[in-house]
Amino acid sequence: MAPTYTMAGGKGPNSYSQHSTYQRALLEVAKEKISEAISTKLEINSASNRFNIADFGCSTGPNTFLAVQNIIDAVGQKYGKETQLNPDDNIEFHVLFNDHSNNDFNTLFQTLPPTKRYFVSGVPGSFFGRVLPQDSLHVGHCSYSLHWLSQVPKGIADRNSPAWNKDIHCTGFSEEVAEAYLDQFKIDMGSFLRARGEELVSGGLLFLLGSCVPDGVKMSETMKGMLLDHLGKCLNDVAKEGLINQEKLDSFNFPIYPAHVAEFKSVIEDNGCFTIEAFEKISHANEEFPLDPEFLATSNRVTFGGVIESRFGKEAMERTNELYEKKCPEILPELANAKSGMQFFIMLRRK
Ligand code: SAH
Repeated sequence: MAPTYTMAGGKGPNSYSQHSTYQRALLEVAKEKISEAISTKLEINSASNRFNIADFGCSTGPNTFLAVQNIIDAVGQKYGKETQLNPDDNIEFHVLFNDHSNNDFNTLFQTLPPTKRYFVSGVPGSFFGRVLPQDSLHVGHCSYSLHWLSQVPKGIADRNSPAWNKDIHCTGFSEEVAEAYLDQFKIDMGSFLRARGEELVSGGLLFLLGSCVPDGVKMSETMKGMLLDHLGKCLNDVAKEGLINQEKLDSFNFPIYPAHVAEFKSVIEDNGCFTIEAFEKISHANEEFPLDPEFLATSNRVTFGGVIESRFGKEAMERTNELYEKKCPEILPELANAKSGMQFFIMLRRK
């Protein structure tokens, strides 16, 4: 099955490349932590001059370029300090950009920073499987991607199942639904860690960043959850207008699950290949999305528009987005009182 859950490609106004500054802000804040981690936790093997870095779920850029540059700068600095040699002359950096095969890799390669000093390869394929040779990776990175599941959990879309979900995501209010989503997350995250465990060299580092939910908080009590509920309401309005088949909508769910902190930790511990060097809440320059209907609608469109279009058609997607922006002011007071979500910074070291 071809995955349809990629971000909007290209470089236009409704593209991920032009509309991912929120995600970028986290990478900017993480730079220092990554640099410190590399300086204290990474062992550089000076016998080999090749250093491999991979970004899993890289999308189209430019965020991925910032992420890999931060890593390269930190490794270079450490190398320079330890060997007194110039890293530019002595280390060959290879950057492996991974995403689904239908990600817009053309835009990625066309917009590579002209000043880059590394070799690049695209590594298409799901990161839930191994995408690199065994024991070949020195540092892995993955930001804002691990809330995407490999599929909608079993039973969720089936009217006759106790886990049938009439909402479009895991709001947290139905136990059966939450359990089904969590089961799928455990399977997927387990596969992700198993694959990275095989690819990373012993002592290699894996940085994971993104959104999760504090323990005891339900997704729909957070701003991101409320925005998904808002999207669900707009899709229902469009169904009432006749542009979307109601039954099809009732069985529609996003395969996304921002896990709770404890759930995330326990999957890492169960995997057993890594030591957890850091698992922290990281403060985000923008913390939550700005309360601006136009910003929120565009953000929704570049992230979820592709899925909606592939499921319900372009006209329905456009209409949903129009309503999303128009009705957004109604939910601003609720958004302003949302419980805070959490941006995480995880650093794992391959045993
Ligand atoms: N890392 C970038 C992009 C995040 S968007 C940033 O921080 O801005 C999330 C990306 O994860 C999308 O490009 C999506 O296609 C990718 N993704 C989701 N599931 C994936 C999977 N199973 N394998 C590879 N990529 C995946």
